[in-house]
Order: sequence, then C-alpha cells, then structure tokens
Amino acid sequence: MPELPEVEVVRRALQGGVGPFLIRHVDVLLERTVAFPVGDGAAFAAALTGCQLYHWQRRGKYLLSQLSRGGQPAGQLGVHLRMTGRFLFLNLELEEAPLCPHTRVRFLGDGKELRFVDTRTFGRMWWVPHGTGASQVITGLQRLGPEPFSPAFNGAYLKKRLQGSRRPIKTALLDQSVAAGVGNIYADEGLFLAGIPPHVPSGSLSQGQLHLLCQRLVEVLATSLSRGGTSFRDFRDLQGINGNYGQEAWVFGRSGQPCRRCGTPIQRRVLSGRTSHWCPNCQPMAPGPWDRGEAPVTAEVRSPAHG
Ligand SMILES: [Zn+2]
Repeated sequence: MPELPEVEVVRRALQGGVGPFLIRHVDVLLERTVAFPVGDGAAFAAALTGCQLYHWQRRGKYLLSQLSRGGQPAGQLGVHLRMTGRFLFLNLELEEAPLCPHTRVRFLGDGKELRFVDTRTFGRMWWVPHGTGASQVITGLQRLGPEPFSPAFNGAYLKKRLQGSRRPIKTALLDQSVAAGVGNIYADEGLFLAGIPPHVPSGSLSQGQLHLLCQRLVEVLATSLSRGGTSFRDFRDLQGINGNYGQEAWVFGRSGQPCRRCGTPIQRRVLSGRTSHWCPNCQPMAPGPWDRGEAPVTAEVRSPAHG
C-alpha cells in the first residue's frame, strides 16, 4: 500500500507534472470508486466537469485538490489510493492510450487525460462541495494524528499518546490517529533504526526512546521520498516509474537475509495481521511480560479498550 512518501511523490507529480488541469469531461467506469456523492458517478461527474484542478495537498495518505470554475472556488477533490490506486497522466495527442480493464475514473482535458487505475478497487474519490470542510465529507481525515514531518510529532507527544498502552509499538505506529501516513514499510524501518523491536508494548518505551523513534522515522521517510518512494508491486508514479527505496531497505521484505549492520538473519512475525521484519540483535528484546508469546499480545491488540 502506498505510504506517506509514495503519496507525496504522487502529489508532487500532480502538482508539478500535471499543473492546472481543466476538466472537460469525467467518465466514471466504476461507481464504487466515488465515495461522495455516495456511489453516484453521474453527480460526481457533473460536479467536476468544467472545473480546474489547481492545487494538490496531502494529509496522511489522502490527496486533496482545490477546484475552481470560472475563477471561482468550486470545492475540492479528495483521493485515497488505498492498496493499488494510481494516476496516469496521458498526452492524448502524442500517445495511444488504450484503456486497461482496471481503469476506474477518467478526467479528460484538452488533449490530455488524468486517468485513475485501481486493480483492487479499494481506492476512493470524494467531491467536497464549496463551503464544506473536507473532513465533513472525508470523515477519515477527522481522526488523523500529526504529520511525521510536523513539529507536533515528537517524543513527548508519543509518550502521552501511548501512555499505559500494551499495544505493540509497531501496531501503534500503523494507527493513523497516532501518526498520519506511516505504514508497514516505514514503521519497520524506523523501528530498526531506533533499535526498538516491533512487538514491545508501546507504553513501556521511554520518552527518549520515542524521541529517537520519531527522528529515525522522519529520516527514513525523507530518504525514501528522495528516492521516489518504495518500489513495490502496484506503486508507480504518473509516468509509470517505480521508486528506488525498496532496494536499500534495512529490514522490510528481507526476512531470512543477513542484517545489513550485523549479519544476523532478519526475522518476521505477524502483529495485528501485518508482517513485521526486524533484527533480533540490533533491536534487542529486554525480558518482559510481552516476551511470553504472541497470543496475549495479539488478543490485547484486538481489544479497542487498549491504547
Ligand atoms: Zn542487525
């Protein structure tokens, strides 16, 4: 799934590579992709036709574009790529652009097309009417925690937020209300660089450890961003190019391979349904109640009363 760096790569491409884009026609090929107006492709198309997309922002893994019509504000377009959603930007005057069977929404401009392709069909789009707050329509925005690159994301914040929680720190990092935009890859990488095992209860970590974790997470996100994101199966930028971060990952996707620092085989374990990768030597596990087996930890994770 695209995480913060991948979504930011897409945002930059939409902002810089596409530029202001006047929508002449909208074709919704899969109604389910339209989350607002709910499943109503015709209303969505009518709302966006004639609008200009002109300013793309990112919040967590959400993309938001400002809309204008005839120079007047006309609301916003929200997009979540989820598992496999991606945009293609096509110059119809220069290239043949046959529709692939996974094409879900087409925004047609003057000789150009912004095409949304989504194999698994979990990607969503929202039209946010002018005068309405984006979070009123895109309710997932309401529960997002701070952006990792913001000053609000620091050791003191995490210490307070995770106070008393027995959720594994890896699971806590994947919670979008704790850290917006962090996903499986960068949580594993940040924990490795901070020397913290993924299954340690988040409430047991000191403010100093959490401060270091914030720093390392931000560093690895910035590194990935500078490489164009991680190359994995379904992520591509607007030109269909994969990022390069995956080739230099410390632990993610490397189970059984030697740790790049100490040579110990990287281990993997499923926490809350997500595979975690870590080096047992570089991320030592102090003895504690969490180390008595996976089942109790997993059971607690599933209880909403915790963390
Ligand atoms: Zn190691």
